[in-house]
Amino acid sequence: MARIVILSCKKIKDVTCVSCMKCFKAIKERAGEFGRYSNEEIDIVAMGDCGDCPGLVMPKVGLIVDLSKAYDRPIDYIHLGSCIKKAVGTAKCPIDLTAISKTIEEKTGIPVIIGTHPW
Ligand code: SF4
Ligand code: SF4
Repeated sequence: MARIVILSCKKIKDVTCVSCMKCFKAIKERAGEFGRYSNEEIDIVAMGDCGDCPGLVMPKVGLIVDLSKAYDRPIDYIHLGSCIKKAVGTAKCPIDLTAISKTIEEKTGIPVIIGTHPW
């Protein structure tokens, strides 16, 4: 069982990437970065966002981790959504994906995966 959290770009989620259908499809088909769980069940513990520009990711992750402890919902992996990758690649998003992944891992002990669906 892989217990995961997905973080999205607040500007893209449900605006141009509507209702997170792409990630839900990719989870069902084990596509993209969810292919790593091909032999496991996936438990979506939470779907949050980046905290909005300029990328308030760490405060948001801190709250998610606090809630996961309060509600006894452990997290195995945190995925930074393909929407965040797209925002970084095409829309001058200020998030440094490598740096924020390292910071999240150091502060929470939870492995971070950059990306989600492949579309
Ligand atoms: S990439 Fe995934 S998490 Fe991000 S907005 Fe699209 S479906 Fe939602
Ligand atoms: S900081 Fe980046 S990921 Fe977050 S809302 Fe702004 S553009 Fe999107």
